[in-house]
Amino acid sequence: MRDMTSDSAIQYIQAKSILSKLKDTDSYFGITYNMNLYRGCQHGCIYCDTRSQCYGVGDISQIRVKQNAIELLNTELVAKRRKRATIGTGSMNDPYMPIEKTVGITRKALEVIATNRFPVHIITKGDLVTRDIDVIQEIAKAYAAVSFTITTHNDELGRKVEPFAPATSKRYKAIEQLAKNGIYTGVTMMPLLPFINDSTENIQHIIKSASDAGAKYIIPMFGLTLRAGSREYFYKALDAEFPSLKAKYNKTFGLNYECWSLQYQKLSQVFNHERSKLGIASRMDFYKPIEPQQQLLF
Ligand code: SF4
Repeated sequence: MRDMTSDSAIQYIQAKSILSKLKDTDSYFGITYNMNLYRGCQHGCIYCDTRSQCYGVGDISQIRVKQNAIELLNTELVAKRRKRATIGTGSMNDPYMPIEKTVGITRKALEVIATNRFPVHIITKGDLVTRDIDVIQEIAKAYAAVSFTITTHNDELGRKVEPFAPATSKRYKAIEQLAKNGIYTGVTMMPLLPFINDSTENIQHIIKSASDAGAKYIIPMFGLTLRAGSREYFYKALDAEFPSLKAKYNKTFGLNYECWSLQYQKLSQVFNHERSKLGIASRMDFYKPIEPQQQLLF
């Protein structure tokens, strides 16, 4: 497998725009604008949807940095006077992949967002996000949420399915640090891969550890999605790491886009029982704009 943490695979490109507006605000993550500062992702998750041909990203291990991203963001937020709504980052790549440590483009973008008082929702597997706690606290005066994607409680299994991402144990520590600093944080528990990490034990562990760390919500998906492009890569990885599972997937799901766990009902019951016991929400709170009348009071 190519070493995706190496900086030799990095290219710099010029982008045409940096915020893409969704048709409707996303009902799970509360996002109205998507912001992708990079193309490609160094974490190398075997199930990554960004490999789907429909996105046209190509080889996701080829990292491209959008060199003019900050300039574009300034123009789009200030000159184009975008309506204030949540900017999401982390859906097509991880804003805190290893290269961010040296490039720092995510931090710079957050600074622009803070200055313009826009709300943000960061989705990541990278504990590097704790570096930016000061800026996120500033953004949180409008609204900020940081969601950590956690799919397995087991670090060893994590190395097989998310080979270059920080271990789950590090993600719990980052949640703890964010929560202690008053930042709204939780977990996106997705995907749960049929026959691999779709066990009640895994779910119970994640809920308990996330709760201990200070997570306020856990948004689950009891399955995964596969399309042309992502499916081939995933099956190749299954052959390498979980021999015999490809045949089982083929037989169970064929060419289905949605591949739900065969234990969906049971997992969903366990999830709701465990998370409500610990006071964890299954949905997150979204940004609420201040009404004009309220603004007058200040
Ligand atoms: S962190 Fe997200 S974008 Fe990056 S490889 Fe993993 S699933 Fe894909």
